Amino acid sequence: MFSYLKSLGKFLAVLSIFLFSAGFAGVGYTYASGGAHWGYGAESESGPEHWGDLSHKFVTCKEGVRQSPIDIIGATDTKLADIEFHYLPTKLNIVNNGHTIVVNYTKGSYIVVGKEKYKLLQFHFHTPSEHTVGGLPAVMEMHLVHKSNRGKLAVVSVLFRTGAENVNFEPVWANLPDKAGQKKSLGKKINVMDLMPENKAYYAYSGSLTTPPCTEDVKWHVLKTPLEISKGQLKAIETILGANNRPVQPLGARKLKE
Ligand SMILES: [Zn+2]
Repeated sequence: MFSYLKSLGKFLAVLSIFLFSAGFAGVGYTYASGGAHWGYGAESESGPEHWGDLSHKFVTCKEGVRQSPIDIIGATDTKLADIEFHYLPTKLNIVNNGHTIVVNYTKGSYIVVGKEKYKLLQFHFHTPSEHTVGGLPAVMEMHLVHKSNRGKLAVVSVLFRTGAENVNFEPVWANLPDKAGQKKSLGKKINVMDLMPENKAYYAYSGSLTTPPCTEDVKWHVLKTPLEISKGQLKAIETILGANNRPVQPLGARKLKE
């Protein structure tokens, strides 16, 4: 009897691992830490239109009025101060979390905006872009996620168009984990500073996380200058991510600055 219970326990453990992995099967059907699965399909019951109903933790996704992404249009010229970048090389640590491909960053890299210092945590990708410019999406968007010591979030965003192959992305592109839950850690180092346009002029507004729980009070900095990647490079990441862009949200009473 005891050994029967033991093997039953083992069976249930294996079953639960199987069910958990099944949740990672595709970008369209995945689990958040809150337990509610969410995804991107417009037709899907777990798609962006329904995020706010999937969990009480996600209500900001439907009730928030300072949400991201937005359409970039009609910016007010306010002579924004330059962002100070202090990015160092990091060992490659790439994760496919079922929603996006994340490149984690080791401690020590940061930006300064105004008087606040924000530490770089990771960067990740969306295909097509989440922000649109004058109603037009870009083929890809990269988000560099930062957090201050006070817990304030700041994102720097880079938009992409297709063109020449971008060799600076090769170390990451050669190691894209194609299955949800998969990780790749390598000794090779990269510096995300090499993955950004030279001209760092930006649009700024106050928004939110673009994924559940859609937390607000996130400082957004969308760089004006897009980068190029080849059609082949785009295809390589699109094949893994599918469409993982939240549709644009109303600007409302907010001001877009430049
Ligand atoms: Zn993002």
